[in-house]
Amino acid sequence: MNPLFKFLVGACGWSIGLAPGLALAMTVPLCPTQNAEAGTDGRVLGHLPYGQGAEADLLPAPPGFAIGGPCRLHRAAMVDLIRLLQAADTVPGVAGTLRGVSCFRPIEYQRQVFCAQIGQGQRFANAAERARVAAPPAYSEHATGYTLDFAVRPSPDCPDVDACIIWHPAGRWLLAHARDFGFELSFPAGNAQGVSWEPWHWRWVGVSPKAPGAAAARAVFARAAAKYPAIPGVYLKPPPVVPTLPRPGFPLYWPRVPGL
Ligand SMILES: [Zn+2]
Repeated sequence: MNPLFKFLVGACGWSIGLAPGLALAMTVPLCPTQNAEAGTDGRVLGHLPYGQGAEADLLPAPPGFAIGGPCRLHRAAMVDLIRLLQAADTVPGVAGTLRGVSCFRPIEYQRQVFCAQIGQGQRFANAAERARVAAPPAYSEHATGYTLDFAVRPSPDCPDVDACIIWHPAGRWLLAHARDFGFELSFPAGNAQGVSWEPWHWRWVGVSPKAPGAAAARAVFARAAAKYPAIPGVYLKPPPVVPTLPRPGFPLYWPRVPGL
C-alpha cells in the first residue's frame, strides 16, 4: 500500500478498530495546492479508496494494443483481455480497432495525472472539478491492476476517453459483450456515485466468482459493487436499468444493444 495512503487510512481511525462507516471525516492532501474532505464512508470527491496492485502480478498487453504508453494488467485480467480481443477480431467493423489508452497506473503516477490539469490556465479550477472525470490519487481503480480505458483506432472524430466511443462499433460491442469476458463498466450514466459516465473505463471481476483470480478482484471491488453496481455487470440476473441516455433513442444498457 502507498505509504501516504496507509497513513491516511490510519488517520481515519480504520486501523484502530473503527468500522469504516464510523470513520471520522478528515482532510486528504491530493495535490500541492489541493486538499479534499473524505466522507464518513471513506469516499473522496465521490471516489472510493483503492490500494496499489503488486508489480509481480502484472503482465503486458499484446503488442500493438497499448497507445500512449505501456499497458499492464493483473495476469488474471490479461488472460480475459486477450480472449476479448480475439473475439472482437472476428466482428466486422470492430476487428483490429480496440486499443488500450490507460491500464495499470501507480498511485504516484495518478497523482501527476490528476494534479497536472488543475489550476490557473488549466482545464480544471480545482480538485472537485477534476474529480468529475478522473479519480484522485489513491482513489483510482487503475491502481489495482484490474482496470483499463479502451480507445479505438482509427478514430478521426472522437477523442480518447470521451463518451463518443459508444458511437464507434467497437464501443457498442464492448457494452454488449465485455461482460462475457469478465469486464464490467465502472461508471454507468447517472451512476449514484456521482462520477461522470465513462463508457471507456472497464474493470475486470471475472466471468464467475470461481474464475481464476476472480475472488481477489471481486474483493477489491466489493464495496463499489455493493453500493454502486457496474453496468453492464456480471450478474446472475439483470440489474435495474439505468435510464439516463446520452442522446435520445440510443439504448446503452442491459440486456443488449440492438443491432449487435
Ligand atoms: Zn479509466
